[in-house]
Amino acid sequence: MARSLQLPRNSPLSTLIQNGVWKSQLLQDEDVAPFRDYLQSVIIKNYEDKMLWDSRKFSFKYAWRCVKSVDAEVQWHKLCWGKSRPQWSTTAVFVLLDRLPSMCNLQRRKVYLAPRCSLCQHSCDTTDHLFVACPFSQAFWAWMGGVLGWNLHQFQEVESVWGLFLWMDNLYRNSRTLQSLFAAGLWHIWRERNNRLHGSTSLPHDTVARIALMEVIEAQNVSLQDIIP
Ligand SMILES: [Zn+2]
Repeated sequence: MARSLQLPRNSPLSTLIQNGVWKSQLLQDEDVAPFRDYLQSVIIKNYEDKMLWDSRKFSFKYAWRCVKSVDAEVQWHKLCWGKSRPQWSTTAVFVLLDRLPSMCNLQRRKVYLAPRCSLCQHSCDTTDHLFVACPFSQAFWAWMGGVLGWNLHQFQEVESVWGLFLWMDNLYRNSRTLQSLFAAGLWHIWRERNNRLHGSTSLPHDTVARIALMEVIEAQNVSLQDIIP
């Protein structure tokens, strides 16, 4: 968590809090984005705090271990296979649980913001819209499907896309790479959404998809031929 905070080893929780609230530097950190909504919902009380993690910094790897321990039997536990980067796996799990702080999810928690999708500027940014049904995401998955030889653009729900990746599990020798590709795809779509929302960069769908694919190939140490059937 929070590369920008650079916490020393054995830091107490209090180092993340200032004047009774989470430090703004922490909440603005890109790595914390999937947890921001959850963190803000935690009521901070004036108790003695304890060290709850033992790594140098709170990280996606740590968060992923926590999420994973909730129910190791559910289908998305497969996302921890292989050499997925922790932020990909964690984002994918939060997407599948519909816990990411999209505008629509924030509105459900009575945080009123214009719930418009920052990728297409039209629809409400529900999880299914953002990651699958949005024209940007449809084009993203169509590009990815073109590489894999699948029809990935006709889906409207995240679970349907995940279902296809799970089904392919039995057919492909590199299923872990495919699951990593699914998770990386979600993370890159989420990052592109955040970049556009906060007015920084804006990349076309094929560039984002190509970056996701190249990063998976690098992380898994495979070639493109290993992914294509
Ligand atoms: Zn959209």
